[in-house]
Amino acid sequence: MMSENVKASEIRRIYFYSDYLKETYGEKVYKLPINLPGTCPNRDGKISTGGCIYCAESGANYDALSNTLSVGEQLSINRTYIGEKYKAKKFIAYFQNFTGTYVPLAEFKSRLEQAVSDGVVEISVSTRPDCLTEEYLLAMREAEEKTGVRMSLELGLQTANDETLKKINRGHSVADFVRAADLCKIYSLPFCVHVILNLPWDTREDVVRTARLISKVGAEGVKMHSLNILKGTVLAEMYARGEIKAPEREEYVERALLFLKNIHSGIAVHRLIGRAPEEISVVENFNASWRSVYDEIVNEMERRDYIQGMDVCKEFCL
Ligand code: SF4
Repeated sequence: MMSENVKASEIRRIYFYSDYLKETYGEKVYKLPINLPGTCPNRDGKISTGGCIYCAESGANYDALSNTLSVGEQLSINRTYIGEKYKAKKFIAYFQNFTGTYVPLAEFKSRLEQAVSDGVVEISVSTRPDCLTEEYLLAMREAEEKTGVRMSLELGLQTANDETLKKINRGHSVADFVRAADLCKIYSLPFCVHVILNLPWDTREDVVRTARLISKVGAEGVKMHSLNILKGTVLAEMYARGEIKAPEREEYVERALLFLKNIHSGIAVHRLIGRAPEEISVVENFNASWRSVYDEIVNEMERRDYIQGMDVCKEFCL
C-alpha cells in the first residue's frame, strides 16, 4: 500500500510513452507514419501465404497516406499537418506497415536516408523478429552515427506462448524473438514490443509469462492490443463458424492490469489498447470506444492501488 505521506496523484502508476519521449527529447514528439508498398514472408510464400490469422491486407497501417508517395513526400505532408495541428517541432519517422526489414539491404538504407529530414529526431522501423539480421542492424547503427538521428525498432511478438504463435500462424517462435532482442542490444538499438493480450488460446498465465519475458530481454517499450476481428481475415472466418468468441471487455481489462503489474516499471507503455477502423472491422474493441477502455484500465490501476511492475519487483527484490 502507498505511504500516507504520498498522495495518490503523485504516484506514476503507468510509465506512459509520452513521459518517455519528454525525458528523451525534452518535449512532445509526434510519429509520422510512412506507408510503403511491401509484403512480409508470412504472406509471400517464404514462410506461408496466409499471413497471421488476424492480419488485414494493408499490413497493419490503416491511417496512412498513399503508398505511391515517396518517403520524403509522406513525411512532408504529415509534418505540415501534424506540425500545424499540435505546434510540433520534433518527429519520429515511422515505418509501420508490413515488415520494415524485408526489403533488399540497399533499399532499406535508402529509405533510412530519405527519412532523415527536418525535425526528424528518430526513425522507427517495425518488423518481425525473424526478419532481423546483423546487416540491417549495422545499417541502422551506421545511419545513426552518420546523421545523429536516433534509430529504433518495433518487434511483433504478440505472445510468449509458442503453441499460440502456431495457432495464429505467426511463422516465428518465441526463441526468434529472444534472438532478435539480443541482436538489438548488441547493436544498441532500442526496441518496443507488440503484444495481443487476449488471444483466445492464451491464458492469464501466458499474459504474465509474456510480460516477464519482455521485462527480461531489455525492451524499452511495449504496445498492448486487444484482438480485433477484421473483415476478410482467417480470424473472421473462424468467428463466423463459431470457432472463437468475440473478445470480452472485462477479460481484456483484467489481462491488461495483470500485464502492467508484470511489466518492468522502466518499460514505456506506448498503448493500452489499439484501434482499427470500423469499416474494416467485424468486432473492434468490444464495440466500445477506444477511449473508454483506456480510461477503465487507468482508473482500475488507481482504484486497486496497482503500479506498473509491482509483481516483477516482488519476484526480483524480495
Ligand atoms: S507479419 Fe505483419 S504483415 Fe505479415 S501477416 Fe503478420 S501481421 Fe500481417
